[in-house]
Amino acid sequence: MNFSRALNIITTVLVLGGICLIANTKPKKKVKHHQEKIKIVNRDAQQIRVLISEHPLRVIKKISLTAEPEQKLVLSSLDGKAKKKLSSIELAIVDGMLYSKKGDESYHKLKGTQFDITPTSGHTNLWESSYDGTMRLEIDQKKNQLLVINILPLEDYLYSVLLTEVYQSWPSEMHQVQAIASRSYAMYHIKNPNGNGKFYDVKNSNHNQVYNGKHKYTHLRDAIRKTRGIVVTHKDKVALTMFDACCGGVIPANVDRKEVHQFPYLARDRRCVYCRGYSLFNWKQSINNMDLAFSLRSHPLTQSDFKNVGMLKNIKVVSKDKAGVAQELMLVGDKSSAKIKGRSFYEALGKTTCYSLNIEVKNKAAANKATANKNDFEICGKGFGHHLGLCQRGARELVRKGWSVPNILKFYYPNTTLKVIS
Ligand SMILES: [Zn+2]
Repeated sequence: MNFSRALNIITTVLVLGGICLIANTKPKKKVKHHQEKIKIVNRDAQQIRVLISEHPLRVIKKISLTAEPEQKLVLSSLDGKAKKKLSSIELAIVDGMLYSKKGDESYHKLKGTQFDITPTSGHTNLWESSYDGTMRLEIDQKKNQLLVINILPLEDYLYSVLLTEVYQSWPSEMHQVQAIASRSYAMYHIKNPNGNGKFYDVKNSNHNQVYNGKHKYTHLRDAIRKTRGIVVTHKDKVALTMFDACCGGVIPANVDRKEVHQFPYLARDRRCVYCRGYSLFNWKQSINNMDLAFSLRSHPLTQSDFKNVGMLKNIKVVSKDKAGVAQELMLVGDKSSAKIKGRSFYEALGKTTCYSLNIEVKNKAAANKATANKNDFEICGKGFGHHLGLCQRGARELVRKGWSVPNILKFYYPNTTLKVIS
């Protein structure tokens, strides 16, 4: 009997803080676990601060926020002295200062470095999206930037994140897996602030988790409700539950990254092959020499190394870790050669061209002079993402096979425990 079959039969119902995570096969027997709680003792952990955008103060920029019909936006400064009620707020950055405007009136300078905009009811519209909670405008004087930050209840944030991080059409069990991983990931960043922790907890991009504000897929609330407050923990601390779209069968324990060395639960030594049906488990991508050169020339991480290379003749992966993830690449040109970090190459090409860094690069002209376009390179790779933590395509397949939500999380984050935030 293989492992997955055995787990199919031993269907588990885990009861945590009165919340049931139910597998999609009928349980034979309910197993009641000791109710464990984890205390969150820092500032209000039920709220999260998400960076929506950042704007250099030296560039003229207009920002427009609007309330729902019949509602107003309350603009208040940090000291609470300056308060205005408006149906829309027009802001402008000019000469390093922030200005606001009411209706047809002229702009006037806003005094202070922090302003909160809260609707009297409903949400705030900004650009193409709508946001719950408060929009905070924060001037980071060190970096000379205006930061636009959305502060909202963590569970509302997770409800939005579910739509952008997994498919709304996937089954509820997969939404529950993602909800717990996303909650733990967010909570880890709330509890372990980095250099920007003074201003915000996470960015709204795939640097952290993609967040585009409110959406209409209300059935996703179900997964949030069923997993409310549950997080993945290791030694009583919230885990950094990294996740990617498809691991490509790469064993995370062999990946040479600081997170793998720092957190044992990211050093999984069992291979996931459940994602092998996905198109990006193994992939090939052709790229034109000119496009590749443009990407390397224009990206800040590669432009200085690339500028003297000239016409690209070849690209070689010169060092890899045990997992096969490229650490360094050599760019060979008609003028000179330059060694660049794998990470820089990946960032420069972007995630829609280079899906992961477990790659080989072939010069198609060198491989087949007769038929290939001499300008083309072919990148062959495994997986989509960084190969660490939860593999979403693999987890989706395990849900199909009948694995329970806790067992899926245990497989991808070994030696962890699920607990409820108190
Ligand atoms: Zn996988």
